[in-house]
Amino acid sequence: MNPIYSSMGTTIFEAMSARARANDAINLGQGFADGRGPEAVLAAAARAVLEKSNQYPPMAGLLELRQAIADHYARHQALNLATEEVLVTSGATEALAAALLALIEPGDEVLCFQPLYDAYVPLIRRAGGVPRFVRLHPPEWRIDRAALEAAVTAKTRLILLNNPLNPAATMTSAEDLAMLADFCVAHDLITICDEVWEHVTFDGARHLPLIGFPGMRERTVKIGSAGKIFALTGFKVGWMCAAPPIARVLAKAHQFLTFTTPPNLQWAVAEGLATQDDWVQEARHRFQAGRDRLASGLQKAGFAVLPSAATYFLSVDLAASSLAMDDTTFSERLVEEAKVATIPVSAFYAEDPVTSVVRFCFVKEDAVLDEAIARVQRWRADLG
Ligand code: PMP
Repeated sequence: MNPIYSSMGTTIFEAMSARARANDAINLGQGFADGRGPEAVLAAAARAVLEKSNQYPPMAGLLELRQAIADHYARHQALNLATEEVLVTSGATEALAAALLALIEPGDEVLCFQPLYDAYVPLIRRAGGVPRFVRLHPPEWRIDRAALEAAVTAKTRLILLNNPLNPAATMTSAEDLAMLADFCVAHDLITICDEVWEHVTFDGARHLPLIGFPGMRERTVKIGSAGKIFALTGFKVGWMCAAPPIARVLAKAHQFLTFTTPPNLQWAVAEGLATQDDWVQEARHRFQAGRDRLASGLQKAGFAVLPSAATYFLSVDLAASSLAMDDTTFSERLVEEAKVATIPVSAFYAEDPVTSVVRFCFVKEDAVLDEAIARVQRWRADLG
């Protein structure tokens, strides 16, 4: 048995969702939206099962989907990607696994930023890599060049960046992306950029992909997910984009991980990317309204709410809310006593965690958010 897995607990998202079910709680922990996603995408998936082939599609993904992804990024992010630079995967999770397996040689160091998505560290370690952590902290969670320079060594080969950043709900600024690009080129690194939240952005802000910065076209793996773009997290259709010399190696790792992804879902995502820009824009407004609703309810309950520029999440700072409780205690008490599930942000740190921040998911129906707010307000008032 590999100790990376045998010593590991169940992921916090699964664990908190189980606690939510056991306590009959409102689940603002795991990030998935209420609602059905775009009807056109659902109908296309159903139609494709009946009318298209259900045998193995091409290993790199349906050409139509790879073209739709390239067109999508040309339209939204002014990127010029050829179809051979796009590989379809079974969710962003498989893209991350394939990229790390393909690009890490045993002993290579990978710079990652904490807080980080909890899949990263076991994937890096299982690929033989050594994660080196750069710690970001609230309220700004900004990347500091001095911290990067302190963490880089002769063995560093990769950076793993999540932008927009779950759970901090920040977007890396143009200035910080330019600095990162400069740093990558200076140290001859490749960056794996997990951009699954690229379309879930608020207040008119536009996502900037690192691959578009000087020097990065040849040294970036850009990862996306239809699950996030269309709020259909169960689809697990993702992709990775990279210049041909990298893409060819990524394809080798992908071919022996999953080889391919259900063709009906690929057809549906191709149709969605080509036709659903309006739905994506409307969803942004809806999610932003949910963010504002939850933020104001939590503020009224006496919580210090941190800004949320993107993702399905906002966070509260317990210390700044005059609550002398760590995040795990808070989340455990809230799910048991108030019947609202959240995620403690310390779960996103592999070492030296920030323990005063808790993440709430706001992409829920108004009535669900209102009930959650009422429960949290009552709980907080009872604390005295
Ligand atoms: N990366 C990040 C930062 C995420 O938040 C998520 C999903 N919550 C994923 C990857 C996984 O994406 P997928 O479901 O497409 O595998």
